[in-house]
Amino acid sequence: MTDATLPPGPANRNKPCPVCGRAPEPKFHPFCSARCTDVDLHRWLGGVYRVETNEKPDDDLDSGV
Ligand SMILES: [Zn+2]
Repeated sequence: MTDATLPPGPANRNKPCPVCGRAPEPKFHPFCSARCTDVDLHRWLGGVYRVETNEKPDDDLDSGV
């Protein structure tokens, strides 16, 4: 609801991505990627996991890039 009002602080910066638990990217804070941002957004909007995207399924499972 009002996640934007989360208090800023060191503890907040190290919080893992609330969607997948990975380390967050400052660019997508507090998420780790645009995809997770979308997932969370849709979660709030409809409570349904239905993320429409034009991108291909992202199946890279941390394959040591
Ligand atoms: Zn994530």
